[in-house]
Amino acid sequence: MAITFDAYRAQLRGSLIQPGDPRYDETRKVYNAMIDKRPRLIALCADVADVIASVNFARENQLLLAVRGGGHNGGGLGVCDDGLVIDLAGLRGIRVDPAARTVRVDGGCRWGDVDHATHAFGLAVPAGIISTTGVGGLTLGGGIGYLSRRYGLTVDNLLSADVVLPEGRLVTASANANEDLFWAVRGGGGNFGVVTSFEFRAQPVRNVIAGPTLWPLERAAEVLKWYREFIPNAPTELNGFFAFLTVPPAPPFPQALHLKKMCGVVWCYTGDPAHADEVFAPVKGTEPALYGIHELPFPMLQRAFDGLYPPGHQWYWRADFVNELSDEAIARHVEYGAQMPTMQSSMHLYPIDGAVHRVGRKDTPFIYRDAKWAAVIIGVDPEPANRDRITTWCKNYWEALHPYSAGGAYVNFMMDEGQERVRATYREHYDRLAQIKQKYDPGNLFRVNQNIQPAGK
Ligand SMILES: Cc1cc2nc3c(=O)[nH]c(=O)nc-3n(C[C@H](O)[C@H](O)[C@H](O)COP(=O)(O)OP(=O)(O)OC[C@H]3O[C@@H](n4cnc5c(N)ncnc54)[C@H](O)[C@@H]3O)c2cc1C
Repeated sequence: MAITFDAYRAQLRGSLIQPGDPRYDETRKVYNAMIDKRPRLIALCADVADVIASVNFARENQLLLAVRGGGHNGGGLGVCDDGLVIDLAGLRGIRVDPAARTVRVDGGCRWGDVDHATHAFGLAVPAGIISTTGVGGLTLGGGIGYLSRRYGLTVDNLLSADVVLPEGRLVTASANANEDLFWAVRGGGGNFGVVTSFEFRAQPVRNVIAGPTLWPLERAAEVLKWYREFIPNAPTELNGFFAFLTVPPAPPFPQALHLKKMCGVVWCYTGDPAHADEVFAPVKGTEPALYGIHELPFPMLQRAFDGLYPPGHQWYWRADFVNELSDEAIARHVEYGAQMPTMQSSMHLYPIDGAVHRVGRKDTPFIYRDAKWAAVIIGVDPEPANRDRITTWCKNYWEALHPYSAGGAYVNFMMDEGQERVRATYREHYDRLAQIKQKYDPGNLFRVNQNIQPAGK
């Protein structure tokens, strides 16, 4: 017999929000304000028992089920229409083991929570570039950021995960237990269950030498050609992502540059400070218009863009992996970079090399181990009236550059773009993921994600 609503509600420690509740509209929001979904129920889970009860209730009552970690997903995959949302924001515990250099992180944590906890011990887990992003979604898709060249993707630092499966059973996946599931969650997204706890290896990172260098847009082609040669040959202690950007009208940027469209690289050096001048000498040699590199605590770098990108703005994303940045591709980048429609719209190229290339392409679902860059185009603006402008620019830019790409995109930089794009993301790993999906979630209960369809269905 299906679990009744009253029995479910009585089981929960957390709150259950429904339409009509004064908290409903605030609670159904996700980071991207373009997403406007109306769930039937939102379970603000307080603990793993609440997650299990919610999975059981959704399954037994055939409700569409969404799982929200940090709610940052561009396509709004942390929420759904007319179903049940499991919100993990109440699961925020963290325990660092400084001797073992590991950290255990609850499924609803944001990266800022992890940075804060690990920094006290001079440690960090490789993640993204914004502190408000959820640990859940970012990790399950791969995790690209400032520490990737030196220490690999976030999934390359994952030691184990506690997963609530569709039948409501909690299992641990690691190199020694449920190995197929452990393989699948290191890039296969939220397809296999709710991860209530992640265990990561933490890396020795305390202060970094970091910050932006900016050049006028007129030098963009020259800078991109220099960057494509420089980064793959730079020591892995140095990371730097390229960006087309509009300079924010605020300190620390000099007034003369405010609101200017420019190109830049945001650097992060984790090596021996005694060698920093030598490592950055070629960067200085390019004579940037702004050289903003200095020493700072790693969590401060992680928070540097939080103010520029608060929740509640309109976002439209497009992405691809890139093997080569040809002169022709650079010419197209320069053309579309110059047309950025709003102050926060941007294009980033994240290096995919160093430690990321040292992990075998079969070792995790993240198959683009041989790509050199992850490119992402983001149209962003607070104003809903600009929704079409940012979307059109983003799509046109992507269509112009897609022919120069490796074919698929980093799964966490995609909107809800359909099965063809999901297959392009996983290439020949898709079939293995589909087999594992068939084993753990044959009914596709977890389908509000970049969906892997169970094999044979
Ligand atoms: C401003 C911004 C900056 C970003 N920068 C980076 C970056 O530098 N590097 C990078 O790699 N990515 C980056 N991303 C992309 C980010 O990784 C994805 O948006 C990711 O999906 C966010 O995870 P979340 O938990 O916040 O999202 P949510 O919207 O909550 O979830 C996304 C997906 O993951 C699933 N999920 C989340 N948590 C769990 C869980 N515990 N168990 C099971 N399933 C779960 C959800 O069901 C959903 O399908 C950025 C995103 C934004 C908005």
